[in-house]
Amino acid sequence: MALSLKVLDQLQRGTVVVVGVPTDENSTFMRGPALAPARIREVMDEGSSNLCSESGIDLSGEKRFRDLGDLEFTGAKDALGQIEDAFGVLLDRGAYVIALGGDHAVTYPIMKAYHTRYKELNILHLDAHPDLYDEYGGNRYSHACPFARIIEQGLANRVIQVGVRNINPYQRAQAQRFGVKMIEMRDFRPGIALDMAGPLYLSVDMDVLDPAFAPGVSHHTPGGLSTREVLGIIQGIRRQIVGADIVEFNPNRDPLGITAMASFTFLKEIAARMIEVN
Ligand code: MN
Ligand code: MN
Repeated sequence: MALSLKVLDQLQRGTVVVVGVPTDENSTFMRGPALAPARIREVMDEGSSNLCSESGIDLSGEKRFRDLGDLEFTGAKDALGQIEDAFGVLLDRGAYVIALGGDHAVTYPIMKAYHTRYKELNILHLDAHPDLYDEYGGNRYSHACPFARIIEQGLANRVIQVGVRNINPYQRAQAQRFGVKMIEMRDFRPGIALDMAGPLYLSVDMDVLDPAFAPGVSHHTPGGLSTREVLGIIQGIRRQIVGADIVEFNPNRDPLGITAMASFTFLKEIAARMIEVN
């Protein structure tokens, strides 16, 4: 992996670190999310915004916040295996990691790394889709499958999904079989109690947002959350957040950069919340 040992040796335990995971090889419909980490860093650096959270934490001066750059995949091993290894190294250094995908397939190897270090992890999963297929197009590691793998392997105590609105009877049966608590979009109200225990892992698929707020995703699914509603969920978390991912941003469908800025905003607010509650 590309993270230098020098950087890792300097890492204080409890640091919130950002790591790009630029792979979309398990996407089903179109490619593009592999370009997301670079695009999010562009808006981070271009100067049209700043690194302050709404609550007043300035991440640019925050010792507990570091951007470690992107994982660089080698041909030696499959990408998902390399992700698990890299996150294992970071977690052993006591980091709380925010991963910038990449497609949603990255969450499964990340959770494998977390599970060996956090036994009682709960996942809050924001997504238009439940991602519970046993396989999709012959691929058990497709971005349509990560939560099936996570639950069947016992990598999380509990999974709560919020914002789901593209679901078929098969995935509904999967959710029931796996004991997933699902707050479907049609039942969502701002301020709804999510009943989460900690420690918590937060997985944000950008298509949970309505396409009006985030056109830069591969699967446009109308009738979703507003940016403000997702911010309300993040800011309402009272439990320890030990990790997070922001996935499925597709820069190829984001001509005005709206989704890039929404992803950057979620990154800031999640990092600030991690610092505030951890
Ligand atoms: Mn997803
Ligand atoms: Mn989705």
